[in-house]
Amino acid sequence: MLHIALSLSKISAITGKSINDKALMKESYKKTDYKWEIVWKNVIIFTYIHLATIYGIYMACLYAKYWSILWFVALGIAAIIGTTAGSHRLWSHRSYKAKWPMRLILMIFQTIAFQDDIYQWARDHRVHHKFTDTDADPYNARRGFFFSHIGWLLIRKHPDIVIKGATIDCSDLMQDPLVVFQKKWYKYLMPLCAFIIPTLVPWWAWNESLWYSWHFAICRYCINLNITWSVNSVAHIWGTRPYDKSVSSTENIGVSLLAFGEGWHNYHHAFPWDYKTAELGNYKFNLTKTFIDFFAYIGLAYDLKTVSADVVKKRVLRCSEPTDNPTITREGDMASIVFVTYGLGGVGTTAGPHRLWTHQAYKAKWQLRVILGICYASAGMNNIYEWVRDHRVHHKYTDTDADPHNSNRGFFFSHVGWLMVKKNPDVIRRGRQVDMSDVLADPVAAFNIKYFPILKFMFAFLLPVMLPVYAWNETWYRAFVSQNIIRYVILLNAIWSVNSAAHIWGSKPYDAHINPTENQWVNLFSGGEGLHNYHHVFPWDYKAAELHGSPTTTFINFFAKIGWAYDLKEPSKELVKTVMRKRGDGSHSLWEAVPYPAINVSDTIWPSSLLTSHNSHIEIVTSKRGMTC
Ligand SMILES: [Zn+2]
Ligand SMILES: [Zn+2]
Ligand SMILES: [Zn+2]
Ligand SMILES: [Zn+2]
Repeated sequence: MLHIALSLSKISAITGKSINDKALMKESYKKTDYKWEIVWKNVIIFTYIHLATIYGIYMACLYAKYWSILWFVALGIAAIIGTTAGSHRLWSHRSYKAKWPMRLILMIFQTIAFQDDIYQWARDHRVHHKFTDTDADPYNARRGFFFSHIGWLLIRKHPDIVIKGATIDCSDLMQDPLVVFQKKWYKYLMPLCAFIIPTLVPWWAWNESLWYSWHFAICRYCINLNITWSVNSVAHIWGTRPYDKSVSSTENIGVSLLAFGEGWHNYHHAFPWDYKTAELGNYKFNLTKTFIDFFAYIGLAYDLKTVSADVVKKRVLRCSEPTDNPTITREGDMASIVFVTYGLGGVGTTAGPHRLWTHQAYKAKWQLRVILGICYASAGMNNIYEWVRDHRVHHKYTDTDADPHNSNRGFFFSHVGWLMVKKNPDVIRRGRQVDMSDVLADPVAAFNIKYFPILKFMFAFLLPVMLPVYAWNETWYRAFVSQNIIRYVILLNAIWSVNSAAHIWGSKPYDAHINPTENQWVNLFSGGEGLHNYHHVFPWDYKAAELHGSPTTTFINFFAKIGWAYDLKEPSKELVKTVMRKRGDGSHSLWEAVPYPAINVSDTIWPSSLLTSHNSHIEIVTSKRGMTC
């Protein structure tokens, strides 16, 4: 080690570049004698498990019986509890004591999880804590994400793990008869609890197919494994380190959510004997703590160990990054949640009021309509009724006085100005003429419209701010600014830019005679609504673009796969080609031998309702059916 460090310091002195810790560690693995030895048996098993899981998820979405889903979710929860409350907090760390009935339950749950028997699990975990981030750490996170996640199971253990692991005292574990019993009979108990019973119950009790049931069982196991592994990988790489910056473990909300409170892992490495594995009670995603508290309440758990606020504070002050400067420690979490809320609001708008309710470009079952309604509310715009009405008027009277955001009045007007001045009387008159009966006939949309002020307040402004505050103690100020100002402003501008930028700048491959354009920037920020020349020519295409590929289209395709979206409308390739050749500006990549400017529109054989968007929505849909059938 030492000579490697020295030679590296020489290199850095010559090149003048500083070499960080990571590079140093990686280099050291190249230079030591230690060689990997791949355990092919495990590689094959884990590959099978993951492939079967993909198949299982797919089948579960399509064919699983509701009871099967409930059954496997329940098993998954039991397995996580067995690992977190059982082999982790009880047996590895002795952070509380439990009477035999609770230990029996935990032992069974831990067997369902199939992550080796309690004895072996606890021994490995004690080694992990004692030698964190060294070669003796079984899932040393310094060797990268893949190694700490699953790679450590695919190669032979580093010799240090065996040598130093032998110094760990595990005699206390052998004094627990339940641990001894499980260790002795593990090779029978495990297959029974983890696979055989879970597969047979759905088949026997509610006639699930054995083939599916088996794959759901594998799927349950695989998801559980990945959740547990993420504590060793994700929560050792990404997140903040307010309690101890010298160790790789972090505070990670995502892992906490999935692993029932085990993601507050920087705290856990600083105070491993705390049964909460987190500092604060108001960390919401700590179901394991709730579980232990409940058993303490009924008297089966006792001697719950925890750490006083004073000790924690001293520790934080002594050896942490400055937590009183929230911009340093919380940036990552806040940025990722802003990204998520931005995406949900964007997809909610484009797949919801736009493609579904305005254009009826596809049909959606009530479950999807509820999801879309909530996501749309989180974007914080007008209610669905106003949105659809304005947009239908926009398509019917594009770029005339009756268009609410007439782009002939300039960028500013079509972007945001139209919301700041009184509407043109034409807009109001035409708006009243729009047929909105289909939207009002949808109970989900009607509910959304009726209670929109409450829904909008909750999903656009209240929850996005409350979540980070309650989930990981974000300050109200920072949560408010990043969600309700930064995210909201960017999202609104992205959607407005469809009306402004995508009506002004860009090419017109499908119809050179209208304002709307193909604009890649708008397309990027609006989740796939920027190919707007196409959209005005074929407004009933659920893709809002000629080709697949935008996030919104992917979103709809996904729900079409599981059956929640159906009747996805698209024009035929031939139709697109013909229209593009007749009216396009020549910028389409398939443009063939038709000179620009396109030939006179009037002598086309196509009904004009197909070629322009200046037609009511209903007409377009009916004439389209005539053409493609
Ligand atoms: Zn750890
Ligand atoms: Zn631990
Ligand atoms: Zn438009
Ligand atoms: Zn549209």
